[in-house]
Amino acid sequence: MPAKTAPGRRVCDPPRTRCSATAAGHRRAVQLLIAFLVCVAIFTARADARLPNFVLIFADDLGYGDLGCYGSKNPTPNLDRMAREGVRFTQFYVPQAVCSASRAALLTGCYPNRVSIQGALPPRSKVALNHNEITIPELLKTRGYKSAIYGKWHLGDNPEYLPPTQGFEDYFGLPYSNDMWPFHPSGTQRTNYPLLPLIKGTNVFDLMPDQTQLTTLYTQHAVDFIRANKDRPFFLYVPHSMPHVPLHISKKYRGKSGQGTYGDTIMEIDWSVGEILKALKKHKLEENTLVIFTSDNGPWLTYGNHAGSAGPLREGKATVFEGGLREPCIMRWPGKIPADRVCNDLAVTFDLYATFAKLAGAELPKDRIIDSKDIWPLIAGLPGAKTPHDVFYYYWAQHLQAIRSGKWKLHFVHSYPHPDPLGKDGTPGKLPNRQIGPALFDLESDPGERNDVYAQHPDIVKRLEELAEKAREDLGDTNRVGKNVRPAADVRL
Ligand code: MG
Repeated sequence: MPAKTAPGRRVCDPPRTRCSATAAGHRRAVQLLIAFLVCVAIFTARADARLPNFVLIFADDLGYGDLGCYGSKNPTPNLDRMAREGVRFTQFYVPQAVCSASRAALLTGCYPNRVSIQGALPPRSKVALNHNEITIPELLKTRGYKSAIYGKWHLGDNPEYLPPTQGFEDYFGLPYSNDMWPFHPSGTQRTNYPLLPLIKGTNVFDLMPDQTQLTTLYTQHAVDFIRANKDRPFFLYVPHSMPHVPLHISKKYRGKSGQGTYGDTIMEIDWSVGEILKALKKHKLEENTLVIFTSDNGPWLTYGNHAGSAGPLREGKATVFEGGLREPCIMRWPGKIPADRVCNDLAVTFDLYATFAKLAGAELPKDRIIDSKDIWPLIAGLPGAKTPHDVFYYYWAQHLQAIRSGKWKLHFVHSYPHPDPLGKDGTPGKLPNRQIGPALFDLESDPGERNDVYAQHPDIVKRLEELAEKAREDLGDTNRVGKNVRPAADVRL
């Protein structure tokens, strides 16, 4: 009788050996394939789950009308390209038209009044951004981000309040404005200021640095940071010292714009943007990086030919007119932001806080009021997207000077500095005060705030005044403390 064979087994000894070998090989191949697919899946999942990078380039005192894509003759090919490849905003605001207040809002997601940072903090400031505030880099740190700032800080120059104490892992730049030194051309009021320090980390790296190299140095640091962090999510903040006066340009752009010293300065900032975009491309990060360019406040018009332009908007820095608070803003993220789009909805620099949090999957603080709103639908041009702000407050320091809802802007009675005559070649002109208000403007038909229609719309004035009362209750006004204001840090304590 033939030997019984086990079910399913062939009776063929020598071939059996070969068959077993083949099966084992097959199993091994399958195992390898599965292992490979698992690796691919893990890698793909990681790649898909890779959190986006954020690059925020913040000019100083750049006007609404200073870039080619906003109608300027200043050559800005890189920024113009960014606009063609992304979205350009026409109603993008800072919540106060001055350096420190604007930066406090940007990094905390709040009106500067809420975090009690006003004006431009001087050297040896007794006030600084409170450590109790949660800054953008601190928020992103919860999601594994690394953050760096290369440029002007201006939220407290005491070493205990410099960027490394406020969430940034790396810092190289000026602690405040580049004109806060004893050599200001306007006179003697600043002769007690210390020599201008350039800071690295929390230490003085140089005193009275060659300002013609600032834009180049910040750019080199930014490019190095991108290379060093290409495999992890990062937040890169580049708040340029320029084009704040005194204007300084490196040799490579001096006399190159055909638009004078100010145009040369803008051209060099545009070069810097181009270098950062190049670095992102080189490291294959373009499609995983949201790049934003905007400014901290409008042009400092009293400097005449050394000041920028607000384009069609009225007035500039240190006022609550549109020229002071409305900024050029361009955002680019290939594959995520449709190309060559213009967004005409109102958005605010402090909205970047909630927007970054949303994109990074970070939780917004729940124990305090945050004014920031997620504007990703506006940025990406999603169907039906509209401004999340029904009302916008225009404060100058603690004074509520104007309010906007929809297309209507109501100025309350206030004085403002109007340059006359203008300065020249780095020396400021005179700034006599003028008076306005009450005055109502339709910003849709009259963005230049020239046609006062206060008398024609008492119902709208009444509604805006009611909204203003809510603002005063919340954030205060002259001689009135708001109920939801948090203190700044007192560095003497
Ligand atoms: Mg500024």
